[in-house]
This record gives sequence, C-alpha cells and structure tokens, in this order.
Amino acid sequence: TALSLSTLSDMPDGVAVPGYARSDLSAGILHFGIGNFHRAHQATYLDRLFATGEGQDWAILGAGVMEGDRKARAVLQAQDWLTTLVEQEATHSRARVIGSMVGYLEPGDAAAITAALADPAIRIVSLTITEGGYFLDSSDRFDPTHPAIQADASTPDAPGTVFGLILAGLRLRREKGFAPFTVMSCDNIPHNGRITRNALIGLAELSDPALAAWIAENISFPNGMVDRITPATSDRERGMLESDFGVRDGWPVFCEAFTQWVLEDDFPSGRPPLEKVGVQFVPDVSPYELMKIRILNGGHAVIAYPAGLLDIHFVHEAMEHPLIRAFLAKIEHDEIIPGVPPVPDTDLGAYYDLIASRFSNPKIGDTVRRLCLDGSNRQPKFIVPSIADSLARNGSVTGLALESALWCRYCYGTSESGAEIAPNDPNWDRLTRIAKAARDDPGTWLGMEEVYGATGRDARFASAFSEALEALWSDGTEAVLTSYIDGRL
Ligand code: NAD
Repeated sequence: TALSLSTLSDMPDGVAVPGYARSDLSAGILHFGIGNFHRAHQATYLDRLFATGEGQDWAILGAGVMEGDRKARAVLQAQDWLTTLVEQEATHSRARVIGSMVGYLEPGDAAAITAALADPAIRIVSLTITEGGYFLDSSDRFDPTHPAIQADASTPDAPGTVFGLILAGLRLRREKGFAPFTVMSCDNIPHNGRITRNALIGLAELSDPALAAWIAENISFPNGMVDRITPATSDRERGMLESDFGVRDGWPVFCEAFTQWVLEDDFPSGRPPLEKVGVQFVPDVSPYELMKIRILNGGHAVIAYPAGLLDIHFVHEAMEHPLIRAFLAKIEHDEIIPGVPPVPDTDLGAYYDLIASRFSNPKIGDTVRRLCLDGSNRQPKFIVPSIADSLARNGSVTGLALESALWCRYCYGTSESGAEIAPNDPNWDRLTRIAKAARDDPGTWLGMEEVYGATGRDARFASAFSEALEALWSDGTEAVLTSYIDGRL
C-alpha cells in the first residue's frame, strides 16, 4: 500500500496509524530541518500526544533553507506529509504512521517562511539543523564573520540562513504587537539553547541592535538533551518496509526503540503537555547532557577506532568483538563514569548497561565509519574533557590515552590489514600528516592545540599516550587491547 491520507484506512495489519484526524490538527510549531532525527523524535512524541486528544493545536509546519530539502519536501508532499516510522528492537520491529506534520513551506521561500513565523498561532520555532548549522568557530563561539551571516546582516529582508529568517519573523511580530515564540534547538550540542541564543542575538547585533536587545529581553531558548539513534534512510530501508510491512513510503525512518528527551521548562508562550508522553522537564539539563556526551558519544568514539582499524563494518559487529566490548566496559567504568557528576534519578552504571545493549542492537545498521567521522571536532567534545577530569582527580588515563592513540593510528590512513581508509574528517589531510609524524614522535599528535589544549601538555597523559601508540605500532590493536583489559598496559 502506498502511504497517503487516503490509504490510511487500508494500511496492512501490524502498521499502526494516527489515532486522530488530520483535520483536527493546527500548526503551533514551525520546525527547521525536517530530517530523519526530527521525524523519529519530536514528530513522534507529538504524534503520541495528539492520539491522547491533547495538544492538537501544536502540529508541525516544516521549513528549511537547504537545496536538498526541496526533494525531501516533494517526497513528503506526495504522501500528505505522513512518515512511516519503524522502531527496531533486537528481536522485533514495529511500524507506525506518524501524522503530526501538517505542511512544509517551500525551502528557501523567504517571504512565505517569514510570514509563517509572524503568524501568532506559531508559538515554538524548533531546530534540527545539524551542528554545522550554528556558525560556530573552533571554540564553539558564534562566528559573525561567516559569509552567510555577513550576507544576512547586509540584506536582512532577504535572509538565507535559519537565523536570518527567524529574525525577519520576529521583527514582523514585534511590529504587529504579537507575542514572541520560544526557540527550541533539538540538535546534539551541549547547551544548545545558549548556542542558539548566541547565534540569533549575534546576527541581530550586526543589523539591528535594538532588535538584539529586545530578543535578549523577550525570547526564551530552553536547553534540551535529545537521544534516539536514527541512521539515514537508504533503498535498504525502503525495501525492508515494503517486504516486511507491505507499505510503500518514499522516505521512511528506521530507528531504535529507545528514546529520551530532557527539556528545560522555559516556554513563556506555552508548550504542548509533552510530559504526558514521556518528556522529562527539568530546571537544568546540563547534568543530563554531560552524562550523554561523555558516556554515549564518548563510548561511540571508544569503539569506533579499534573497529575501524580491524575493518569491522557495523557498530553491532564491533560490540560482538570480545576485546572491543571489554575495552568499552573497562574505560567507561574506570575512567569515564567516575568523572560524570550525579544525575537526578539516574544510576550511571545502569545507564551505561543500557547504552551497551543499544550499541549491540543488530537491527540498527549503524556503521563504524559513521562513528569514526569527524574526530577532530568530536574528540574535544566527547573525550578530552574526560581525560582532563581524570587527570584532575588523579585517576587513571591509560584507557583514554589508548583511545587517543587508536584515533591517531586510524588517521594514519590505513587499517591493520593495510586497507586504505578513505578521508573521514574535514581536516583529514592535516590529521594524516601529523599522524605520520607521530609514528616516530608521538608528542606531535598531542600538540594539536585545538583538540587537546592544556591536556596535551600534561606529562602523565603524554607518557601514557606515547606508550599506547608505540605498542599499537609494534604489537597491533588486539594485543594492546588485551594488555589494557588485563591491566598490563
Ligand atoms: P538529516 O541529514 O536527516 O537532516 C538534517 C536536516 O538539517 C536537513 O533538513 C538539512 O537540510 C538540515 N541542515 C543541514 N545543514 C544545515 C544548515 N547549515 N542550515 C540549515 N539546515 C541545515 O540528519 P538527522 O539524522 O536528522 O540529524 C540532524 C541532527 O539531529 C544531528 O546533526 C544532531 O544534531 C541531531 N541528532 C541526531 C541523531 C541521530 O541519531 N541521527 C540523534 C540525536 C540528535
């Protein structure tokens, strides 16, 4: 059955359909970045809420600024903005049709997007525009010199960026005397609300300082932690949906069953009652962010590079390798978790056990190469802070030094079988050059100030790193993992 509003009543058995009528919904949220994660996460929470009969004036109106969004919009339009979501557990999968999106503005149509942003019915503007969408410099500060930002600063009436559009919408709202909306980032960036605020106010200061001051006074930017592993869709997923569930969908979403959303309750213009469908509202999201970034994202980095060096393709296959699995468990327990401050109502050991089982789910099809991607941006966020904390409390850094050495060895550009590793980082050429020099002089690697900062100059860490890298070159990955697990490294 081809997915559309008119075929919902004919969906095959085993495919759940929205428990509400589309005609009862009206838009209250304008969302930028209608990708896979948004549909697996926010759109799915709202779908469940609408099925309870509540919050039906908080449906989603899509928006985007990227060329690639046009094609995606056309696919969704052909199926009346519906998406089939397949939630995969190790033993079985469930399919359901998500109906919480009621429209999608033509990507790049600044006039239409601005007009929608000025509509008082829109009370939340949310974002999943990837880490790259926030115009951050290498120290995570807003970069006002970016050409796209400069362009929006000089022609604020013809904005091309998400922030330029939001400003244009807010300007119009303020002129008309309408209440403002809340801006809610759902991207995977620590302090995502603060980062969003800096970008919006930073751009406003370039063209309209009075508007910048008004935003600082009147707009709220709740921070949030989001979590649900959601790979990209390929023909493999389209084929699986048709063969396993009998549904034809141009752009289904496959994800894990686990989902988590922790949000600061700072919505002066109102919000849907998302606590009724499992969203945790807290006064401060930072302990949850830190837990996720250190234990989950850090854990991904720990398994990525040994698996990459051993030519392992899928993440669950990495978790089936006894040495990689044991490496992850030991480093988490001995070196990462001890540096994570307590999180309300959460047992960090149990949190890690759940993550190990999520990484092991064979249905997800997440790849080792995706985890190895972009180490130069990820290591300083996910790993180096754990090293710094461990050094500060005089704890062990042997495993984290080995993780760093594995990343360095990976950036040499060949796996242990001698296979070439295709460029997998925006700074790949530079990394490869330094990794080659580090083979004879390991300290060179730690001199990358933008990655390691002061941690790279710590004598104890530097000596553990050198020992690990030398051992990797002389004995190989499996032997060194074994020494670490046995406590001999
Ligand atoms: P995706 O590629 O399916 O969608 C990304 C969307 O962002 C697209 O609509 C794209 O056009 C838009 N976009 C990209 N660059 C942009 C820019 N510079 N300005 C404006 N829009 C831009 O990716 P996804 O899987 O939906 O992931 C999106 C984000 O969601 C991630 O970067 C991450 O922050 C967050 N997230 C993803 C996952 C996951 O497992 N996929 C988990 C947690 C959080």
